[in-house]
Parts: sequence; structure tokens; C-alpha cells
Amino acid sequence: MPLGFDPIYILLIAIVVFLASYMAVTYLREASTQKKEDKGKVISLSKCLNCGYTSSSTYNKEDYVGRRSGKCPKCGGELIITAIYLETQTQAPRETAS
Ligand SMILES: [Zn+2]
Repeated sequence: MPLGFDPIYILLIAIVVFLASYMAVTYLREASTQKKEDKGKVISLSKCLNCGYTSSSTYNKEDYVGRRSGKCPKCGGELIITAIYLETQTQAPRETAS
């Protein structure tokens, strides 16, 4: 019975193809963003609440905005993390062909 079978069959194929391409696109997107993150460096920006001194250091897993990150080298006040951001490298060597 091709007449009763065909529309459902086509619909099923369409759904499978759609899902497969959707998953492929999602996977590729995640892979490319992970590569981008590997190239950059996550920076924790600390600021002294006393004198306004700022210092940046490499992000640690325990770091979060508002965390005390140490003592101010200028006045001995408390350094608080005010920002965590990704530092992108402007001149990264791109000749690593596999
Ligand atoms: Zn200070």
C-alpha cells in the first residue's frame, strides 16, 4: 500500500534527518567554542576597595566575583575580585596544520 505508507515514511525520514543535522550542528558549535576558549586566557580582575589598586591574575576554579583574592600590595587593604573575563590573544600563531 504505497499511498498510505509514503507520507508517514517521508515524515519520519524528515524528522530523523532534522534531528541528526541539529545534533551535528550543536556538537560542532560546542567543539568550536571549546577551541576558542583554549586559545584565550581567563582573567580574574581584582580591585582594592581601599585605594582602587587593580591587579589581574589567571582565573582559578574557586574564583568568583566578590571573592577576597588577597591583600593590596599598596595599602594592605582587601583585594576583591570585581570581574572575570576571557582575554583573547590578538596574535596567535595559526600555522599548526595537522
Ligand atoms: Zn589598596
